[in-house]
Amino acid sequence: MYARARLTIAGGVSSDARRAAGTPLFVDHARGAELWDVDGNRIVDYVLGQGPNLLGHAAPVVAEAVSAQVTRGVAYAAQHALEHVVAERLCAMVPGAELVRFNTVGSEAVHAALRLARGYTGRRKVVKFEGHYHGWFDTVLYSVHPPLDAAGAAARPATVPGSAGLTPGAGDELVVLPFNDLEAVRTYVTAHADEVAAVICEPLLCNSGVISPLPGFLAGLREVCTETGALLIFDEIITGFRLAAGGAQEFFGVTPDLAAFGKAMAGGMQVSALAGRAEFMAAIADGRVAHAGTFNSQPVAMAAAAAVLEVLDEKRDQIYPPLHATGRSLMDGIRAAAEKHGVPVLVTGPGALFQVYVTESPEVNDYRAFASTDRAAMQRLHELLLDRGIYTVPRGLWFLSTEHTAAHVEETLTAVDSAFAELSR
Ligand code: PMP
Repeated sequence: MYARARLTIAGGVSSDARRAAGTPLFVDHARGAELWDVDGNRIVDYVLGQGPNLLGHAAPVVAEAVSAQVTRGVAYAAQHALEHVVAERLCAMVPGAELVRFNTVGSEAVHAALRLARGYTGRRKVVKFEGHYHGWFDTVLYSVHPPLDAAGAAARPATVPGSAGLTPGAGDELVVLPFNDLEAVRTYVTAHADEVAAVICEPLLCNSGVISPLPGFLAGLREVCTETGALLIFDEIITGFRLAAGGAQEFFGVTPDLAAFGKAMAGGMQVSALAGRAEFMAAIADGRVAHAGTFNSQPVAMAAAAAVLEVLDEKRDQIYPPLHATGRSLMDGIRAAAEKHGVPVLVTGPGALFQVYVTESPEVNDYRAFASTDRAAMQRLHELLLDRGIYTVPRGLWFLSTEHTAAHVEETLTAVDSAFAELSR
């Protein structure tokens, strides 16, 4: 299949994120926390479509909602009730959401947030952080994985092109600062208060390791933005509806001005949302800032979002504590297995998602832990796990779903033990 795919698909894959060494995984079907490859192998899935399938693959509530809507029409380019049903739910769940606009994928919602921040403030510069990923559009594709200097510490250039072919100058108004360094942000933003439109971050860094904000960091960003009039944007594409029903802003208790949601909000269907304070969203409402998209609030995807958000909202107490607890029992088991086999491993994260680094500097919980990982060992671990029926994001990220059971944990830890035994050989 791979040979055939390469004849017509560049690289034989549909996203570089799926280009692992060897043969990519070809899926036949998926259900709950499991998927089956085209050779009939059953695999426990901790990738979940890179996060979206929080309720598991082919969740019955999603399947039913989608099937029902398909027969009522899949695209209208007109308004329909599911839009405001989803918007009302989202605004009730997310602390900083007063008004919403929908798009299709995460990159678009982030782009809409940046456009709005610039349009509203009349300023141009955007502050982002090293290692933070905000989608693959030119305006934010900078310094996703910071380069290392000889000592293994990350160099800190203002901008690092993330991709050949990037629009010349796309990053000129992007200022890349070190994550968790509040003083650096305060100093820069205060000195350029009339130029900085927005500060954007992953409130929990998930794309270069899973790295928590230091206590006071997010609150400090909030303060600096309020003082200077820059808008604080949380990119909640991963954290939204995964850390808590109200996303990272509920989890960490800090409310941004704007936030972008995607992934987990529609059970694997494509919906993203820009949600924020009415004062700022008014610039879209009155047409000062353009917002478009053929598939915005596509009814089938919105039917899925309505069904998923209803479950996450109404069953939050039955969903989030066990989701984190299942993840934490895996994290503990992985640490124990690593110690048993003498593999240098660092495991970080809240549980609902977590990161396994193979690194010799296991005490460092910042992006350097990710930057100093043994990439070859990480790739090998990914492959050893897949050989044993466990699918993880190659860079060491694990996503949990409500469908992962104690039996999955046990099965997974047996595979982990065997993989570490092999890795330590
Ligand atoms: N922001 C974050 C934090 C992400 O993790 C991603 C995707 N991994 C995006 C934005 C982009 O979302 P999409 O791939 O749906 O465009």
